[in-house]
Amino acid sequence: MYPKTIQNFIEKFSKLPGIGPRQAARLAFWLLKGPKEIHQNLKHALESLDKDARTCELCHYVIENDGNNKCHFCDNPSRDHTTICVVEKETDLATIEKSGVYMGLYHVLGGLFSALDIAVPKNLKMPELVKRIENLKKNKSVEEIILALSPTYEGDLTAYYLEKLLKPLKVKVTRLGRGLPYGSDVEFADAQTLSGALESRKEIK
Ligand SMILES: [Zn+2]
Repeated sequence: MYPKTIQNFIEKFSKLPGIGPRQAARLAFWLLKGPKEIHQNLKHALESLDKDARTCELCHYVIENDGNNKCHFCDNPSRDHTTICVVEKETDLATIEKSGVYMGLYHVLGGLFSALDIAVPKNLKMPELVKRIENLKKNKSVEEIILALSPTYEGDLTAYYLEKLLKPLKVKVTRLGRGLPYGSDVEFADAQTLSGALESRKEIK
């Protein structure tokens, strides 16, 4: 229906999370008609993502490519290094930080189990989490692992798997408590709900 250039744009952009073919088409026409400097700015922003950003060697949160291997959470001695909050994605971490109630460290899994596929996802940073806890345990410096995963089917599957995976490590594992409605996303929770959910977190035994 559309010329090849537009079709190609739609095909590429509709692979992005939250963007369907219709939105991608709207975006293509908006960009086509909009100021050309936006194209340059977008190009630079994409190049910079490639060049200037990488992930923290401990928690896998994004950091600047400036020679430091740790993020400003892992590298901050005033944070509580005995508690690790496991999140699905960076934007969930940002929401928890904004709530201001959590002072521990994080671990970004990079996704959740899929409801459509029973296989264990290979790209999730779960082996890295186990290794991290094992290393912390050598210095007896781990108190609690908080699973701050969204209360969805995918979040439940992931929490269930993590619970089994972490059990042999004999570390206290908790999950966010009341307040977050089933099917919601941690990323979009307000500060009050999130602090309530953090305070009422329940231990998984
Ligand atoms: Zn980090």
